[in-house]
Amino acid sequence: MIEVRELTKVYNKQFALRNLELSIEPGKCLCILGPNGAGKSTFMRILATLSRPNKGDILFEGESIFSEPAVFRKKIGLIGHATFLYPELTAGENLKFYATLYQIPDAQQRIDDLLQTVGLMHRKDDRVRTFSRGMQQRLAIARAILNDPEHLFLDEPYTGLDQSASQLLTDRIIELKSAHRTIVLITHNLQQGYQLADKIVIFKDGRVADEAVTSAISESDFQQRYLAITSGGVN
Ligand code: ADP
Repeated sequence: MIEVRELTKVYNKQFALRNLELSIEPGKCLCILGPNGAGKSTFMRILATLSRPNKGDILFEGESIFSEPAVFRKKIGLIGHATFLYPELTAGENLKFYATLYQIPDAQQRIDDLLQTVGLMHRKDDRVRTFSRGMQQRLAIARAILNDPEHLFLDEPYTGLDQSASQLLTDRIIELKSAHRTIVLITHNLQQGYQLADKIVIFKDGRVADEAVTSAISESDFQQRYLAITSGGVN
């Protein structure tokens, strides 16, 4: 269980997160929706230990993730706004680099399998700087799941993906859910979020404005609630 307690982040005297409270159940998919500027990406960066809160904490199994961030980082896969890929390295070299970082034994077979899965085996030896945005995003998916992470954090992962890559990502998410991995997904696509999520939360003004368990509410009822909350526009 991941517990978010009074999480607060301030940028230039402006609150990006205000005493955010949230619990993330193991093996479940949590989807975060909300208008631009609601604090979603700020939250994801802190959850991935890439940024620190000004106040509050995130506990995993009762321990702060910030006490040993390197240990927590080994358990996570992240797709963020940055691809975290090295443009001058080839696709294969990028995955090899991360495999070394994660100390994955006999990584070559796993790297080849993943390149096959994301449809990039034929570009294995090409430098990433020659890849299209969508191809880089495909490789970022392979990078994020390379270490078979216990928690997968996805910040608008469908950006730039074509239909077949989107389907591939959805299939991986469903597969990881059935393998009891914890998934946190930020998306602007309510329908997609509703279909994948066990729980959906709506962020607004750095707080959780609403939340629902998807099995307890229809998509159209949830959409009404979402529209009522977000009709005020961006911050
Ligand atoms: P969302 O992902 O929901 O669109 P963000 O978390 O990106 O929202 O942003 C929340 C607020 O924090 C916004 O007002 C944004 O301008 C601000 N913010 C985010 N990152 C930074 C940063 N690095 N420096 C200054 N302000 C930031």
